[in-house]
Amino acid sequence: MAINKFCSICGAVTERIVPEGDERYRAVCTSCHTIHYENPKLVVGCLVTRNESILLCRRAIEPQKGKWTLPAGYLENHETAVQGALRETTEESGAEVSIPTPYRLFDLPHISQLYLLFRAQLLACPFRPTRESLEVRLFHPKNIPWDALAFRVIAKTLEQYVHDAAKGEFSFEHHVISRN
Ligand SMILES: [Zn+2]
Repeated sequence: MAINKFCSICGAVTERIVPEGDERYRAVCTSCHTIHYENPKLVVGCLVTRNESILLCRRAIEPQKGKWTLPAGYLENHETAVQGALRETTEESGAEVSIPTPYRLFDLPHISQLYLLFRAQLLACPFRPTRESLEVRLFHPKNIPWDALAFRVIAKTLEQYVHDAAKGEFSFEHHVISRN
């Protein structure tokens, strides 16, 4: 996955080499020799509930178009994790929610991503389909569309949430999801 194929400083082509004193391959400009570091991305989102039911969005965009997911997306520069989670929730579901509580941190080292998911309650405002979601619905835990979820990390979060909800205990946990 060559993200920095061209130098963002001077526009020349980059090459993937191990810079002197480094241990990893980096995209290095063949002209101005700037090293373009690539680091994991943080995905933030909310598990929004009303009573027992969970808000899911059916994706209007690739990847996994047509599959169900929690409202979540990449954190933007200069944004706090909570601001990002609330922004993604509004962008994808139109929902207004309560102040989010940290719920799960997942490491996905094979795709260089971390997911930080918060719990929040749906406020009175109605949710609706958006540019990013074909459909937005509340699902009772018994009716979660397990076979049509977009990502493994979302399935794990929902499995764990349903388990926690049955006990009425929601502590913050960190898990690693590896390739297999
Ligand atoms: Zn350059």
